[in-house]
Amino acid sequence: MSPPTSDLFSVETIPGAGRGILASRDIPQDTTVLTSKPPAAHVLFREYRKEVCAQCFLYDRGRTLRVKDHDTGKVFCSASCQQKWVDHTGELGDGAWQDLHHFIQARSKGTKDTSGISLTDHRPDVGEIDGRWSQAKPEADVRMRKAIDGASRPTGRKQTKAAVASSTIDPDILGYLLSGILAHHQQPNQWREDVLALAMHEEPYTTTHDLEAHCTSFVQLSSIMPVELHESCTIEVCRALAAVSSHNAFGIRSGSEDGEEYMGYALYPSASYFNHSCDPNLAKQRVGNAWRFWVVRDVQQGEELCISYLGGDEKDLNLRQRRAHLREVWGFACECARCRREATSSHDAG
Ligand SMILES: [Zn+2]
Ligand SMILES: [Zn+2]
Repeated sequence: MSPPTSDLFSVETIPGAGRGILASRDIPQDTTVLTSKPPAAHVLFREYRKEVCAQCFLYDRGRTLRVKDHDTGKVFCSASCQQKWVDHTGELGDGAWQDLHHFIQARSKGTKDTSGISLTDHRPDVGEIDGRWSQAKPEADVRMRKAIDGASRPTGRKQTKAAVASSTIDPDILGYLLSGILAHHQQPNQWREDVLALAMHEEPYTTTHDLEAHCTSFVQLSSIMPVELHESCTIEVCRALAAVSSHNAFGIRSGSEDGEEYMGYALYPSASYFNHSCDPNLAKQRVGNAWRFWVVRDVQQGEELCISYLGGDEKDLNLRQRRAHLREVWGFACECARCRREATSSHDAG
């Protein structure tokens, strides 16, 4: 595993709360304790595709951004952001985004897909998940073999694309998986250390439709990825990307952290080691495509550094509502200092 390192804190085992981050010395108020790296995977939702800079996530009150790359369909707030994106993504990645863009465009011209959405849908269990992914494997292998053949035969790729044209598409899942596949390709060992060390949800798919969409997206990516990306376009990578997203993803929002537009989400492995408190000593702010964390009050050596997982109005919930919300969304019973204090005082009052 590869937790963040700093002379300000260390990652320790916290009784009853897994890992957490403890101050290794006194830290004065307003000190920045961590600035994350760019995300290990992320998605900007398709409905925002013309309004959010693909590099720095800038959102200009719903205005269409002025720099557009017609080959990838991505928009940027400036030519310099576009250049940064190109430098970071590389030629291979740029080509993969172009292939995905063309694939989505060709498929989006048909009627809107509403199949697979059912009122009786349920959260698939581990057995169903394993079963569906084991079906996806041979399908993907066939597509990849065709892509390899296609690299030497000019008509091959067209045939492969026609073969997957009959299935439905989910551009947001396709984009999220591709971003993770590309990050994995750039630094496979680092990616494994960072991402596979995160808390994994065993049953991350909210519905069977969601599971189906992930498996279908993986097969579709297998058919359009250049051969050089095949080692990163794997079931292991795609399943890990889903398994870590439920408890580790940070929302990409406009403006402040509680901004009203929810434009996508991203994985920041180093920032995932902060536990939650309802009265956090850390604040966070997104700076471009990374996050800065700083202490909002003087912190003493040995104190745990915590952020709040509550957003917007959720901070104003009372003790019972807050704990119920954290249990439902994040899967833990909050025993932070504020919750313990409020539980004691409500007990005294009652
Ligand atoms: Zn930008
Ligand atoms: Zn709490």
